[in-house]
Amino acid sequence: LGGWSRENLAIRYFANFESHRRNTTQKAEEKPSKTQKWRSKRMQYKIDIRLLLPCILVVVAFWSSSTLMESAGLRSKSDLQISDLINEAVEREVNRRLAEKLYQMKEATNSNIKSESVFHFPVTTLSPLKRLRILVTGGAGFVGSNLVDRLMEQGHEVTVLDNMFTGSKSNIQHWISHPNFNLINHDVTDPIHLEVDRIFHLACPASPPHYMYNPIKTIKTSVMGTINMLGLAKRVRARILFTSTSEVYGDPTEHPQKETYWGHVNPIGPRACYDEGKRVGETMMYAYRDQAGVDVRVARIFNTFGPRMNPSDGRVVSNFIVQALQGRDLTVYGDGKATRSFQYVDDLVAGLMALMEGSYDRPVNIGNPDEYTIRQFAELIQKLTKTNSSIVHKPSTQDDPQQRRPDITVASRELAWRPKTSVKEGLRRTIHYFSHELEKSGEIKTVGPGEYAAVTKKRHEDRRVV
Ligand code: NAD
Repeated sequence: LGGWSRENLAIRYFANFESHRRNTTQKAEEKPSKTQKWRSKRMQYKIDIRLLLPCILVVVAFWSSSTLMESAGLRSKSDLQISDLINEAVEREVNRRLAEKLYQMKEATNSNIKSESVFHFPVTTLSPLKRLRILVTGGAGFVGSNLVDRLMEQGHEVTVLDNMFTGSKSNIQHWISHPNFNLINHDVTDPIHLEVDRIFHLACPASPPHYMYNPIKTIKTSVMGTINMLGLAKRVRARILFTSTSEVYGDPTEHPQKETYWGHVNPIGPRACYDEGKRVGETMMYAYRDQAGVDVRVARIFNTFGPRMNPSDGRVVSNFIVQALQGRDLTVYGDGKATRSFQYVDDLVAGLMALMEGSYDRPVNIGNPDEYTIRQFAELIQKLTKTNSSIVHKPSTQDDPQQRRPDITVASRELAWRPKTSVKEGLRRTIHYFSHELEKSGEIKTVGPGEYAAVTKKRHEDRRVV
């Protein structure tokens, strides 16, 4: 509700009260007709005017003075009352409408927004000079859709490019039909021509079962997809940010991991399609910067969690929460002593935006240094969900990193960024989100990273039968 509606309401209410005031004044002015009424009555009862004249004069004088005083008093009181009433009514109306909007926003966040919904979250109005045309590849995924929300709220023109492999239209449903928003169903491995000022290049499956499902496609997405986006950035002189990963450090021999650490990655293991894809993605970013002058940014993202995570894509946070909420055992792969550092998605989004708009163009770790063993993390989720589930152990997966913790000195020095949401608070919000998802779908099956082999094996067998 802007000043426009406030003014309109004020005018409308003022008009109502003004007509009410005029009616009251008119009635006051019509009062002398009562005198005429009395005169006719005097005639009727033939009362001698000479006897009554002095009395009438006294009464009339008293009556008119008191009426005048009263009417003057009444008028100033009415004016005050009217202005108070206008203010009150405007305030009431504004509050009512605000409450309505807030209720709609809450409903929209908490429930599956129907496709026919035309409600949009409020966005800032930016001047054309400040409004950027921003492309977000992978914008229908978990991180991408949260980033899109912030960019839209800031008033930019946002285009999401996604092939919906792991993303979902429901993640960005609330922006569809907004004049600042575009959705392009497209695969980044195919070139595309667009006019943009910024490119957040996120397109790539991020969970092990998904990136291991079709390793060749994962490599193509990182290599060909990043070349295509760099080519676009070069042509239109856009700034491009690449979402790399802490996986470029592999199973690290240095702890915590600094950006200067070169990593310890198995180039032919089951995780290589993702890890090496991201490493070559970074290499290409700096080749385009140095050879073609492209303005690049590289974020090395550590484990992130939060609302809109795909509940069945096999990540440790979503698996534990979904298992706990359904009263199933929490599955820990390995002895549970491996460590991870988890950050809440809002912090990551803030970090990505700060990196994009800052001037630092070397790789930057974005993560929360709060480190847990997987076992401790499972216990924390047990406690927060108040579940009776137990923790069970399964064999560890190949090349699983044993420890992970970001050194965020560069991010805090160059971007003035550090995580603001505690792991516990982030988990509470995520648990709330997954409870709601469970209510909607009834049941959610989780997949473990180790189960990918069985999935792909079955796929090959099915193909042979066909
Ligand atoms: P996600 O799987 O939820 O989102 C990836 C999005 O990319 C999906 O919408 C998917 O449909 C889309 N996509 C995949 N392949 C594509 C293709 N060939 N063409 C077009 N779109 C394609 O993953 P996420 O967690 O949102 O991760 C986003 C980015 O952040 C990824 O690049 C990931 O590597 C990186 N990252 C994430 C984490 C994390 O913990 N979430 C950690 C490190 C790095």
